Amino acid sequence: MDWNDTPAQAAFRNRVRQLIATRLPARYREMAEARGGPGERQWEFDRKSDDPAARAAASEWHGALAANHWVAPQWPAEYGGGGLSSMEQFVLNQELARAGAPGVGGSGVSLLGPTLIVHGTEEQKRQYLPSILNAGTVWAQGYSEPGAGSDLAGLQTRAVRDGDDFVINGQKIWTSGAHAADALFCLVRTDPAAPKHRGISFLLIEDINTPGITVRPLVNMAGRHYFNEVFFEDVRIPARNLVGEENRGWYVGMTLLDFERSNIGGAVSARRTLDRLIAEIRADADLGARVRSGPLRDEIARRYVETEVMFQYSFRIISMQNAGEIPNYEASTAKLFNSELAQRIAQTAASVYGLKANVVDEGEPGGRYGSMYVDTVPATIRGGTSEVQRNVIATRGLGLPRS
Ligand SMILES: Cc1cc2nc3c(=O)[nH]c(=O)nc-3n(C[C@H](O)[C@H](O)[C@H](O)COP(=O)(O)OP(=O)(O)OC[C@H]3O[C@@H](n4cnc5c(N)ncnc54)[C@H](O)[C@@H]3O)c2cc1C
Repeated sequence: MDWNDTPAQAAFRNRVRQLIATRLPARYREMAEARGGPGERQWEFDRKSDDPAARAAASEWHGALAANHWVAPQWPAEYGGGGLSSMEQFVLNQELARAGAPGVGGSGVSLLGPTLIVHGTEEQKRQYLPSILNAGTVWAQGYSEPGAGSDLAGLQTRAVRDGDDFVINGQKIWTSGAHAADALFCLVRTDPAAPKHRGISFLLIEDINTPGITVRPLVNMAGRHYFNEVFFEDVRIPARNLVGEENRGWYVGMTLLDFERSNIGGAVSARRTLDRLIAEIRADADLGARVRSGPLRDEIARRYVETEVMFQYSFRIISMQNAGEIPNYEASTAKLFNSELAQRIAQTAASVYGLKANVVDEGEPGGRYGSMYVDTVPATIRGGTSEVQRNVIATRGLGLPRS
């Protein structure tokens, strides 16, 4: 496989680089320099920040992407998306990841929009898609519950039809960015008597401040407020906010999971962290001596090989998408490998700095790797844990028997 750009891809790459060089706000450039890139959902949090400079950066960067129809590069052009080919999306994501530029639009762009395009009514598409693109509405994802994560079909949040409304009671958990979101899409149980996959519906709560909804913060182990608990007490929403058929929401909800990514951002960011670590070792005699005298040289070389492997996983997925195939266990393999590789790289980098990495402080030498290690843990849980990904690879990929 020749992975060099064709002339058309090279021209497209140039356009993306040009945009990044001229329009990426200094705030995101500085975050990329200091810690490899803005954190996840930085754009969403900036959009609602108390700091006017953060709000301005979010709006500036959104405007720059919107002018090129790159807010939702993967959506068809008829719905206001970029209508880009898989290869152009890949190049765009690669360049954004290389620059540490944040994505914009959140779950509305990556999850809800593509699902509405498949399952929504014309009215729903007209109502919701434009406000996702113009940053008017940011959506959060209400799937997981305290007793339903890996076993999502066991969810218990109840929605009961009452005239032209649904009335919702129950609880969601780990709802990323709900505190900065305007709206919430969720899976709810509408028929408790049916087999568990067949009694679920997909609902849109277009205002997260609807009476009866309480969003409570959960602080993660890095000390950041990233996700939340969301409680519903007699929350009334119009029945027209149902997506797809009542009790068939499981299949609507699962469409979301088909919008797999190549994870090229993961490979690019692994390479960037490793390059930076190597440059630090070369520039510091003490670190050099540490690395020379122990097994760390060997460990760093392993991480380098693994980073190359991650690029190959990403390329495999993009070549499948280009051929019109839908990655399945291949996407699980890439997700599993990428999330665990990020942890191993942070661990190796922390070992290079020894005790200095115990100071979990991005401003201290080595401290950035302590915080990076803490930050790499959640990716092995969200979107299907590593164990769940291994189950998928074993059963769907390798044809091994189910337990
Ligand atoms: C950073 C982050 C962001 C998230 N954002 C959202 C969000 O926005 N919206 C949302 O709805 N959810 C979100 N989640 C929740 C996420 O989807 C769940 O945490 C995940 O699906 C795991 O579910 P659980 O936490 O209930 O763990 P459980 O399912 O209870 O799993 C506990 C342990 O048991 C293992 N296990 C479970 N089942 C099996 C099995 N069949 N075989 C082998 N091992 C198994 C798991 O691997 C895990 O180690 C987020 C999670 C994280 C970490």
